[in-house]
Amino acid sequence: MLDRSNSRRLTRSLVLVNDSPRSSSDTALSSTESGDCVIEAENLTKVYGGGTRALDNVSLRVPPGTIGLLGPNGAGKSTFIKCLLNLEPPTSGRARVLGRDIRTSNRESREKVGYSPEQDSHIPGMAGCEYVTYCGQLSGLSFKQARQRAHEILDLVGMGQERYRKIDTYSTGMKQRAKLAQALVHDPEIVFLDEPTNGLDPAGREYFLRLIGSLHRQLGISVVISSHLLNDIERICDRVIIIANGRVLEHDSLENLKNRHRRIVEVAPSGEAERFAAALLEAGYVFERRSNGRLRIESPEDSVEWLLELMRKHRLPPGEIVANPNALHELFLRALATDHGNRA
Ligand code: ADP
Repeated sequence: MLDRSNSRRLTRSLVLVNDSPRSSSDTALSSTESGDCVIEAENLTKVYGGGTRALDNVSLRVPPGTIGLLGPNGAGKSTFIKCLLNLEPPTSGRARVLGRDIRTSNRESREKVGYSPEQDSHIPGMAGCEYVTYCGQLSGLSFKQARQRAHEILDLVGMGQERYRKIDTYSTGMKQRAKLAQALVHDPEIVFLDEPTNGLDPAGREYFLRLIGSLHRQLGISVVISSHLLNDIERICDRVIIIANGRVLEHDSLENLKNRHRRIVEVAPSGEAERFAAALLEAGYVFERRSNGRLRIESPEDSVEWLLELMRKHRLPPGEIVANPNALHELFLRALATDHGNRA
């Protein structure tokens, strides 16, 4: 795991291999230059050859941090990442990454960006450390710098002696580690990780999430992580973009999303639901009946004491009470429903 001493060692070596810290000539690309946004998109649209509208007028401004790109399979997450990296040309619209227009992105800007694609990307026949070293060289490091960095990053991602074996023989977990290492080897300012926890066992997933979650906090590297798993995103991200059918349904900080539902209470009456609803109505509370039988109530205060009092007064049988239901969960379910509705 990325501990403080490891981080310090890494940072020192980053300065060493880059000769100079990020400054002067880097300023054109620094996120502060673009109003503190690492990604800006304006009506970004991608229609593939077959007519699939994979991205549909995506507009957003994303500050640095750990950013979750959440959506069901086929939502457009990979396409969004590929457009931002200029690997897929957008059909229309504009975008900037680290303040630079993606259409003019060149080697200089690629040196600031790391990418771990969803699919395997290694070169057959190469050992892990050879591959990561080679990727470092492609990003502008000398062989010596790249080899030194490759070993440090492979340590960081938790790869031991396997680094000397051909990647073709790796387990899925080891391949994911090699992919993450090549994305970080050149000390990028932002890294795009497309479904990096796919195929990992629970222990591997836990290790990966903690490592990825610490990249911004400890090394200042902004992370865009795509996933179709709500839990992964909720665990490590401070900002979420929910995407379905190529459209952005939500983009906000996790804190804001959760606060939006701070005073919502859901009750699952264990019986006598009608009497429960009548009591709420009589007392003047605003509520909504949900399709799962629950009553969703706007709470007048943070505590649910008023609700317990109402239940006592009307001798209502005890039921399950959920205060502040998970807003992110609900938004994600809505994204799934949108996706399903459009496919049906
Ligand atoms: P996600 O990463 O969320 O799973 P993708 O961006 O891979 O979604 O795909 C979004 C949509 O675009 C899907 O309907 C997918 O089938 C389609 N798509 C992706 N890549 C291509 C391509 N190269 N050609 C045609 N359609 C594509």
